[in-house]
Amino acid sequence: MTPDECAALLAYVGRLDPRAAHRDPAETAGQLATWCDLLRDVPATAPDGWDAAAVARAHITGSPYPILPVDITRPWTAHRRALLARHTDPRPNVDPDDVEGYQQAIRAQRDAVATGAVEPTASRELAGGPHPQLAHLIARALPAAAAAALAPFRPLRAAREAAALAGRPDALNVPCTWCRAPVGEPCRRRTSPKRAEQQGGWSRRSTVHPSRLDAATEQANRQERAA
Ligand SMILES: [Zn+2]
Repeated sequence: MTPDECAALLAYVGRLDPRAAHRDPAETAGQLATWCDLLRDVPATAPDGWDAAAVARAHITGSPYPILPVDITRPWTAHRRALLARHTDPRPNVDPDDVEGYQQAIRAQRDAVATGAVEPTASRELAGGPHPQLAHLIARALPAAAAAALAPFRPLRAAREAAALAGRPDALNVPCTWCRAPVGEPCRRRTSPKRAEQQGGWSRRSTVHPSRLDAATEQANRQERAA
């Protein structure tokens, strides 16, 4: 709240509850200074219906005690928490490869929400992972540094990206004739049954079978010739 907003709020409070209004100008000035100081970080109005004057009015109509700055700061803290809980950092409009600038922009957005300056941005939660097409877009939007940090946790994607960067064909473009992994699926190996009566399962390989890579290379060459 600016000093002007604070003075207006205090005048409003004094009108509703004469006990809060001082007769002595020095006392009035002191009270105003205290309120300005304590309500500095509380906005007069903010998204989701925050209105400091309405909060003051609710206190005066609902409590036998004279209003104090804390009767406004405490509700604001709760309102601010609700605003932040609704906020899911949207992608800022800065170069995603500028990691520091990107983080600063995210922080600035959060601060703006926390001070009531802007509406929180709520995006739909992605339950059970995004649609593959969407995931592709999200991955492309990842800052390079973040993608590099994630690589160990996404070995398959990292391998495909590395292949694309190196100009090598993507082995996952073709099915594997060795382990019969379909297009887009990693190669797999049979795991041996733990007991004789159990069936063995499949486990993903982090690399592809050489014959599959050959097939992918052959297909890429064929496509190149056809083009
Ligand atoms: Zn295979």
